[in-house]
Amino acid sequence: MKIAIIGTGYVGLPSGVGFAELGNDVCCIDNNINKIDLLNKGILTLYEDGLEEMFKRNVQAGRLRFTTSMKEGVSTADIVISAVGTPPHPITKEADLQYIEAAASELANYIQGYTVIATKSTVPVGTGDKIEGIIRKINPKADADVISLPEFLREGFAIHDFFAPDRIIVGTNSERARAVIKELYAPFKNSTMLFVNRKSSETIKYASNAFLAVKLNYINEMANFCEKTGADLDEVAKGMGLDSRIGNKFLKAGPGFGGSCFPKDTHAMSFMARQYGITMPLIDTTIAENDARPSIMAERILNLADANAKIAVLGLAFKDGTDDCRTSPAIQIISKMLEKKANITAYDPKANISALKILGNKIAYAENAYDAVKDADVIAILTEWKQFKELDWHKIATLAKSKTIMDCRNLLPADEMQALGFTYCCIGKRDITC
Ligand code: NAD
Repeated sequence: MKIAIIGTGYVGLPSGVGFAELGNDVCCIDNNINKIDLLNKGILTLYEDGLEEMFKRNVQAGRLRFTTSMKEGVSTADIVISAVGTPPHPITKEADLQYIEAAASELANYIQGYTVIATKSTVPVGTGDKIEGIIRKINPKADADVISLPEFLREGFAIHDFFAPDRIIVGTNSERARAVIKELYAPFKNSTMLFVNRKSSETIKYASNAFLAVKLNYINEMANFCEKTGADLDEVAKGMGLDSRIGNKFLKAGPGFGGSCFPKDTHAMSFMARQYGITMPLIDTTIAENDARPSIMAERILNLADANAKIAVLGLAFKDGTDDCRTSPAIQIISKMLEKKANITAYDPKANISALKILGNKIAYAENAYDAVKDADVIAILTEWKQFKELDWHKIATLAKSKTIMDCRNLLPADEMQALGFTYCCIGKRDITC
């Protein structure tokens, strides 16, 4: 099939590469000239495990190209997938649809022949109607169906999730569009495909992300409880997770949820509800509690050291497996510590450059974990990179000035750290919570 993908970000680029890998003819469009220049030079613009090799292979095979020209991609496409950003409005926190609307207005001019226009971006209920209205107004003769095709991939696992999605949600009542999507996803034989109406599909994405955010906040509340009572959060979570109704995923306490999706999507959901005259107190509480968490974590770290102490931060990305620092808890915690004039050196296996764009030179960046921890008074683990587990902690015990760890991800084995002489603090365990 001929596919045009608008937006070459964390969703659009892995999706474009994935569809090309399946043998489709894919044209990725972005209005960011720098990104397209780099991609055309064979340089990836983001880090995602396993992406680079597949990207190169498909470019070489002539199945994957990059352009700033909407006309070039859309005019020949059977399906146009919109994966532009829907960031939170800086004041209202509603989903900002300016990129969605701009892309729809532009693509409308170039539709030729029957075309499915699919929105992969996370968009408020009723956005499909808006996009359809824009296209009909600009190009009344366009033979097109506008559908919702929400994306559920997880950064860090984008390639895995692209090829093995546990569900493909398709929001449309058009039989013609359904046939196109069935053909597009025909290779995904093990994934459940659910056809629903467009508004249900738009809602499923927000409802799923808000649910996961609430679940994470719930386990963080339980961690607070365990810290007071002497129960062990990891044991509690394990016991809970054995109940198949609860499931064992998303029961890891930590510094709060972050990234480009959960914070913005919970806010957008809450905003939408208010627009319809209802409130969603569960979601609002989750937002408020999660917003408070970086300050609590920052305070815990700073309490472990004197003023002017050197804090070594391991991890800047919002999660492991990505270089994405958007709404990263690590960045938020560092910002809170900087308000208290902390002296911070940080290292992330993939996200030093993304963090530099946000924090500038307010902190020092180390080239590796050992340089970061040298002479540190406190080591704070803020992202759950498995590389940090595999570090030579014996060596770190000799490099650090004071052997103190605040593990905000409960990543390291407490007993081994204690055996090495570290004061080891983590989340949800009274005996070793500092
Ligand atoms: P992103 O910011 O990484 O990428 C968006 C891209 O769109 C940018 O490269 C931007 O230059 C481009 N763009 C914007 N307007 C354009 C236009 N008019 N024409 C061409 N290109 C344009 O965003 P992302 O993280 O990939 O997210 C995209 C959407 O997918 C969002 O709605 C997000 O909520 C949703 N989503 C994201 C994830 C994730 O893990 N990041 C997962 C599921 C869903």
